[in-house]
Order: sequence, then structure tokens, then C-alpha cells
Amino acid sequence: MPPEPQLPAFAAAYAPDDAALASDLLDTATLTPDREARIDNVATGLITAIRSAEHVFGGVEAMLREFALSTKEGLALMVLAEALLRIPDASTADAFIEDKLGQGDFAHHRIKSDAVLVNASAWALGLSARVVHAGETPQGTLAALTKRIGAPAVRAATRQAMRLIGNHFVLGETIEAALARAHAHPREGRRYSYDMLGEGARTAEDAERYFQSYAEAIMAIGHTAGNAALPARPGISVKLSALHPRFEAIGRDRVLRELTPQLLELARLAKGHDLAFTVDAEEADRLELSLEVFAACFADASLAGWDGYGLAVQAYQKRAGAVIDHVAELAQALDRRVMLRLVKGAYWDTEVKRTQERGLSDYPVFTRKPMTDLNYLHCAGKLLSLRPRLFPQFASHNALTVATILELADGSSDGYEFQRLHGMGEALYARLLAEHPQAVCRIYAPVGGHRDLLAYLVRRLLENGANSSFVAQAGDDNVPISELLTRPAALIGRPEDARNPVIPLPRDLYRPLRINSRGIEFGDRAALDALLSEIESARKPLPTVVSATKEHAAATITAAHAGFVSWSRTSAAHRATILERAGDLLEQRRAAVIALLQDEGGKTLDDCVAEVREAIDYCRYYASEGRLLFEEPVTLPGPTGERNTLALRGRGVFVAISPWNFPLAILLGQITAALMAGNAVVAKPAEQTPVIAELAIRLLHEAGVPRAALHLVQGDGSIGAALVEQPDVAGVVFTGSTEVARVINRTLAAKDGPIVPLIAETGGINAMIVDATALPEQVADDVGASAFRSAGQRCSALRLLCVQDDVAERVIAMIAGAARELKIGDSRDPSTHVGPVIDVEAKTRLDAHIARMKREARLHFAGTAPASDNFVAPHVFELSRASQLTEEVFGPILHVVRYKAAQFDELLDDLAATGYALTLGVQSRIDDTVARVIARLRTGNVYVNRNIIGAVVGVQPFGGSGLSGTGPKAGGPHYLPRFALEQTVSINTAAAGGNAALLTDGE
Ligand SMILES: Cc1cc2nc3c(=O)[nH]c(=O)nc-3n(C[C@H](O)[C@H](O)[C@H](O)COP(=O)(O)OP(=O)(O)OC[C@H]3O[C@@H](n4cnc5c(N)ncnc54)[C@H](O)[C@@H]3O)c2cc1C
Repeated sequence: MPPEPQLPAFAAAYAPDDAALASDLLDTATLTPDREARIDNVATGLITAIRSAEHVFGGVEAMLREFALSTKEGLALMVLAEALLRIPDASTADAFIEDKLGQGDFAHHRIKSDAVLVNASAWALGLSARVVHAGETPQGTLAALTKRIGAPAVRAATRQAMRLIGNHFVLGETIEAALARAHAHPREGRRYSYDMLGEGARTAEDAERYFQSYAEAIMAIGHTAGNAALPARPGISVKLSALHPRFEAIGRDRVLRELTPQLLELARLAKGHDLAFTVDAEEADRLELSLEVFAACFADASLAGWDGYGLAVQAYQKRAGAVIDHVAELAQALDRRVMLRLVKGAYWDTEVKRTQERGLSDYPVFTRKPMTDLNYLHCAGKLLSLRPRLFPQFASHNALTVATILELADGSSDGYEFQRLHGMGEALYARLLAEHPQAVCRIYAPVGGHRDLLAYLVRRLLENGANSSFVAQAGDDNVPISELLTRPAALIGRPEDARNPVIPLPRDLYRPLRINSRGIEFGDRAALDALLSEIESARKPLPTVVSATKEHAAATITAAHAGFVSWSRTSAAHRATILERAGDLLEQRRAAVIALLQDEGGKTLDDCVAEVREAIDYCRYYASEGRLLFEEPVTLPGPTGERNTLALRGRGVFVAISPWNFPLAILLGQITAALMAGNAVVAKPAEQTPVIAELAIRLLHEAGVPRAALHLVQGDGSIGAALVEQPDVAGVVFTGSTEVARVINRTLAAKDGPIVPLIAETGGINAMIVDATALPEQVADDVGASAFRSAGQRCSALRLLCVQDDVAERVIAMIAGAARELKIGDSRDPSTHVGPVIDVEAKTRLDAHIARMKREARLHFAGTAPASDNFVAPHVFELSRASQLTEEVFGPILHVVRYKAAQFDELLDDLAATGYALTLGVQSRIDDTVARVIARLRTGNVYVNRNIIGAVVGVQPFGGSGLSGTGPKAGGPHYLPRFALEQTVSINTAAAGGNAALLTDGE
């Protein structure tokens, strides 16, 4: 056997600096004046064709002109389109339609175009436009219409209109139908690449179903593919995220082991029919893993001799050029040819948001549209020069981009093709092919039922309706053609202007008040490996910690009292600087802290990273808030001759009692708030995590907090009680169970002397309400994260899922299927999703609850956990009523109840009756439903269409009321004042004998 070729590895910086990239791209962007003139000429022809052909084609361009994204109607259209067709029950569909029609002024939306699609969508949304009198409101119109023809008729009409839009974008509901439609009007040179629609797989069953559908599609396409040779043969595009339920960077080994053979099998099938076979490009954090899977499959000897294997590359990613070089090297090493589709990219908004959430140093994508365009052209030039090893496929609906490529190829159409999406770009390519009969445009043709179409449709609408998009601008007659011809290089100008000034770097999100904590991207293998090796070298055996005695506890309060005197006299600026220094030290020592959080707290890598970031954010947030609140007294209005000020100052000694589940973040949050307010602190951490507490206190001392002002007392609950009992305690801040909070409250109340504040954050029976408009895949992701992440040991974790009856079966099955894919095990293994619970006591309690639930509830899912250590596997139980769950179960156990749409209010009553009010999730596309829930339940943190954990300091201030806590919210603007005394000073400035100021100001 010949030796396996050594494959080149992909290595490129994840998010390099824009200016450096721009300077390279700008250098190569200039063409000679005659070439530029030819580009102008061709592009002008294409744009003119788009503008004049619009009515003939009635394409999305026309529809977007009617309902631009910048209008309420446009937004409502998208939301409507996304959710309507998956709502099975009539009443929710009616409520949904009513809600959306109420948002936009459809009644007065004049129809500007008579293209079929526009009318269809306008009709769907603004039936009223034809039947109401001027001056009526959309709400009134809808009410009147519904009264006349009935809600079912409005609903049916709306659905029908949505179907029309669906047909426009989807070639067929099945591959057979799509093939039939493609073959119905055979045109010379027309090629298709079929795409099986659907959200990414969340369960093994989903992945299997997608695999089968790809396999069947390949066979069907192959059988009707005719006799032409590649590249003039049809093809298929596959999404790796559809073929594996956990296609994620931290699961690299598993993905390579399980996904590569699947992809290979499909590729072999495609090779059997000599089809084109493209791996679609997905999110930036999946790029490196995608490339590994792509290369592993490509290298398989069974694919030798086939030129149809291909990859899509996104030019909005800064690494696009490096990806092309890498693929070319692979093809060279294997002596094969490969197809390479160059797109600009479909997930830009998601990339920007994620990068900000993850606190990365920079964006993996460009933040100015002309940079994407410039990079596209640069990559296009590269691809053309790599022919025939690479077969370039240029996917764009941008006339200037297309015209420039034609010029880069010297007007020739050899050895590459253009591509467009079905339902888009018809006019542009009709003109291009008329003028360049040798040119070829392949059509990317989505195939799928209407339910699967929606996410795709929304992406298309979002992308093309955005102001920046070429399609939207070309459709707007107010934009002169000359503007559309402005070259990306001219729009960028200087390299230092390559970055979008209105999109701050993640680090600067909260400036000028503070800097954001630094995160890490697990999809950046180099960064992940560096962090992992730092963590490994920082690991140390855990020292034994001795508990304090009650006498020691008492003495510490006295000592802290002495410390308070001088600390309270320091300036707020001084205290803030120390806290900021503590935040910086934590950031520098992140790896050592993570090692400890894992070893002592049993936390997974992503939980550790999030916790360290939260702790840093607390230091910086309270520092910035403290500067605002404590530095200068506030001057109050009053009569002349008097000065009135209000100042905040420390109360005395605060006892801070923190839990084991956030042994660093909550501990530091409590302490830094109390210190910032000018108090001395005696901290009593949980007895399960004393070493982390020691590290945190040492770090604060190192940052400059005097030892006399900050003390650590180790021990269990009895030591906490001993501290709280002391007469000189000026306040208690506590996070833990409701029972212990009550005990502390009673102890404080029983003492003579000053009445002191208790700030308590306790537990919750946190619920998530899911109605029929919610997207099941999103629900599965959000429920999985909320219920099982951190082994369910967060006070914010989801305990009770309430699903509308009509969709419950599918939603619960998807949640259970997704839970089955979670890896339970050693939290030091980065691929672990669920680590152990904190101790044997917790495990025993949870096991007992599981045993009881197995008797009293319906089991939907029971995971399997390693027998050793304190593991508790995720479980899903269905209860008959919400009230069956009477207490917080602090582990990875999800309870589910079904509710009927008509009994929604009763459900809300049941939730209110628990008495807890910490976190709550609502998954619904109906704004009115969301508003009803918020109005009825006074839950502290409400999360809509997302998970319910991971509150960010200063962004989602955290804490509840009722049985869930006293408030104020940690990480919020009202927290610090609760730790302080208020002092008003009123000075009679005229006491010395006269009011000089008044006399000076008087005329
Ligand atoms: C055949 C075909 C296959 C496709 N396959 C894929 C695929 O596998 N993966 C994928 O992701 N997409 C894919 N797409 C979608 C494709 O990415 C979009 O259709 C494409 O981005 C639109 O580009 P354009 O040249 O037509 O439009 P233009 O309007 O010229 O460009 C739009 C691009 O600019 C980007 N952009 C907008 N604002 C900014 C900004 N401020 N900073 C930086 N960039 C910005 C947008 O995100 C988008 O990528 C495919 C498209 C086609 C036609």
C-alpha cells in the first residue's frame, strides 16, 4: 500500500486585526482604468436589467421593497413567516396573526408593485388594505375583518400566502418534486445544486434522518443526472451540523470519529454518480472542525479520481484566504481537484453577537460590508489563479461583484461557474448569460417541506432586506447606479478605516465605565490548547483547610471593626482602583483559578471560564458604580443661603456568606460590593469550596485591600451562625437556601441593638413557558443549557418546563434526544457537558428524588452516569400538575408539565403560587403572550426566547423576590446603596452674617 500522504494542517489566526488585513487587500485591489471601465459597463447593464425586470420576475427584490426591514411591516413579516407554519393549533395561530398584524400599519401600506409575490405577502399581512376604509387602525381592521369572515378564514388566507412565498424560494417539497421542476424547463447550461433544508440536528434521530434524506437525494439526483461530465453535472450541498447532533469544537474527537465516516459515505454515493458535492460553510467557531472533517474525508483513497468534492468558503471571515490556500495545499498533496464555492456568508449578525457575548479580543468576520466585498474579490482572484486544481464557484447576487469577477477572469468563462439561490438573482443572471453565452450559473435549490423552509426564508429575508445588502439597494430606484458602482476599496479608503466604528470590540462594550472581561473561543484550537496547557501546569494538590472556631469567629468581627474605621475613610476612587486591580489580577491568573474551580468545585471548562469572567465583571462593575455613587455627595435643591448634600458611606462590618455553586463569582460579588461601599468584610465561604475562597481573599489583599478590612473565616453553617450572632455586625449578605436565609433573618431580628439589613439571594422553582410558536430546536438548546448545564446546580437553573399541549410530544422528544447526547464525566475533560454534583450528600438527595419521581411521574429520559464519584445523570420527568413540584431540586432533573392554550392563565396562577420568583423563561413569538406573562409574574429575571442562565453583570442584574430573595439585584445599579448608610448634610451658608452668593448674583 502506498504511504498515507502527510496532510497539511490548517493554521490561521482566528480574528486578526482588520487594518493589517485591509492594507494587504487594498494593495492588490487596483486594476487598470480600462479594466475598471469594463466593470462599470457590465455592472451597469446588470443593474439596469435587475431594475427593469423586477415586475416580470416578481422576485424577492420586489417584496423587500414593499416591506423593507427598516419598517415595522417588514419585521412583522419575518416573524410571521418564521413561526406561522409550525403552529399546529388554531387558537395560537389566530393569536399570533392578530399580534403581528397589530404591529405594522398594514391597512395604510400602499402597494407599490403589482408583482405576484408582493401582492401575496401584502395580502397575507394586509388583507385589510383592500377591504377597510381609510383611517381605520390595523387592530380595528383586523377585528372587523375577523368578525366578518372569521379568524379561521384570516388564518387560512395568511397560511396560503406564506406558502406562496415558500414556493418562491424552495424548488420542491421533496427531491422528486424539485427534480421534476428543474427538468420541466431544461435550459442549456443550467446546473443545480440541491440543498435539503432543515435546522441542524439536535438528536441522533435527527442526524440519521438528515443522513437518509441526503443519501436518497443523491440517488435521485444521480438517476436523472444525464450524461454530461463534471462540472456540468448537478450536485448536492450538505451541512455538517445536520449530520451530527453535537457538531461542536469541544467535541472534536467524537465529531471526527463519528461524523467523518458519515460524510465519507455520502461523498462515495455522490462519487458513484459523479455529482458535485459541497460541504456548506457554517458558523466561524465550526470552521476549524469543518476543515478537519473535510480533509479527513477528502484524503480517503476511495474518492480518488473524482472532481466533484467541494467546500464553501465565506469571504466575510477574515480567514477566507487562508482556507483557500489550505484547500489548495490539500488538493495538491492528494493530487486531486476540488470545487470551491465562494460565498460572502449568511450568519454575519450571529457572528457579531456571539463574539461580543464570548468577550473575544476581535471579530472573526469583517465589520464593514466593503471589507467583505474586497475580501471576496481578493479570494476570487486567488481562486481563478488556482485553476484547474480548484474549480471556482462564485455565489453572489451582487452585480458589481459579478462584473468584477468576469473582468478578473479576463472576460473568459472557462474553468469556473457562477451560482445563485433559487428565487433570487434571476434578472441579473438572465442578462449575464444573454451577453456571455459561455458563462454558467448554477442554481442552489433548497428542497424541503414548509416547516423546514422557515429558518432558511428568514435568513434570506434578513440578509437581503438589510440596508447594506446589494439586492435591497439595487431594488431601490432612489439609489443611483453610480453609487452601486463605487468600489469596495474606495469605500474603505485607508486601512485604519477598515473596522466599523459603531460596532465596538467586545472588550469595549461597556466603556467608558469599564472594560469587559476576556473570554475564549473554544472553536479557536490554538487558543483552547494554550489555555488547556496553562490549566494543566497550574494544577496543584488541594491543601487541607481547617475550620475556624466560634471564638475565632467572634474575635474576627472585632478585628474587622477596627479595620472598618480606616477603610471607610479611604476615598471611593481608591477603593475602586483596588477592585479594578483585583479584576486585572484575576484575568491574568485565569488558568490557575480555572484549575482550582475544576478540582475543588467540579466545574466544566465552559462553566469555569464563565465564572471567572463573572467575578472579574463584578470587580469592575462595582468599581465603576462605586465611583459614581460614593465619590462625591449629591447636591440637592433647596433655598438660597443653604447647601444640602446627600452622601453614602459604609455601615460597618458586613458578614458575607457565599455558596459552593459559584465559589468564586458570588463570593467576590458580595465582598467587592460591601468593600466598595466602605464596609469591612468577614467572609464565610461554603465549607465545600474553602480553597477557592482563600485564593480570592489573597488576591484582594494583594490588590490592596487592607487585611484589617477583609477577613476570611472558614467553616460550616454553625460558624456562619456564630458570625451572624455577633452584636457588632452591621449587615449580612447571603446567597443560599431559603431556609438558611430565614434562620439568619430570625437571628438578626432577635438581637438587641441596631436593626441591620439582610441581603439574601435564595433559590427558585424556575419555569420556562413554551407555546406553539416557539422553534423546537431553539427550545431544545435553551432547555438543555438551562436545566443540565453545571449539572443543574445554579440557582437560575430550569426546574419546570411548561409546554403547550399541541407541541409537547415533539418538543419533549427533542429535549430528551438532545439530553442523550450530553457527555457526563470528569469535568477536567474539556468535552464534558455535565460534571459531578458537589458532594455525596447532594447526590443522595437527588437520587432519592429521582426514585420518587420514577414512582410518581412519567419518565421521559434517564441518562446514564459513571458509577464512580458523585455523578447524577440528567433526567426528564413529566408531572400532571405544576403544583406537584413543591421545592427546588438542585440538580440536573427537569420536570415538565403540559398546558392547554385555553388554560394559560391557570398555568400562570400555578407558577405564581409557588412563591418563588427568581428566573423565568418564555419561548413565544407572540409579543402579547410575553407581555401577559411579564405582567402576571413578578419574577426577578425574565428571559424571552433564550436560555435562563448566565446572567451577565451590569447587563442582566440578578436576583428575585418572594421566597427567592430580598433584592436588590446583584450586578445591578441598586445593589451598592443597600450596603451603605445615607447621610444628609445641610449647611446654612448664610450663618456667618449674610448670603454673599445671592448678593453677588443679584442685579
Ligand atoms: C449558491 C449559494 C450558496 C450559498 N452557500 C452558503 C453557505 O454555504 N454558507 C453561507 O454562509 N452562505 C451561503 N450562501 C449565502 C450567501 O452567503 C449570501 O447569499 C451572500 O452573502 C450574499 O452575497 P451577495 O454578494 O449576493 O450580496 P451582497 O449584498 O453584496 O453582500 C452581502 C454580504 O455582506 C455581508 N455584510 C453585511 N454587512 C456587513 C458588515 N457590516 N460587515 C461585513 N460584512 C457585512 C453580509 O453578511 C453578506 O455576507 C450561499 C449563497 C449562494 C448564492
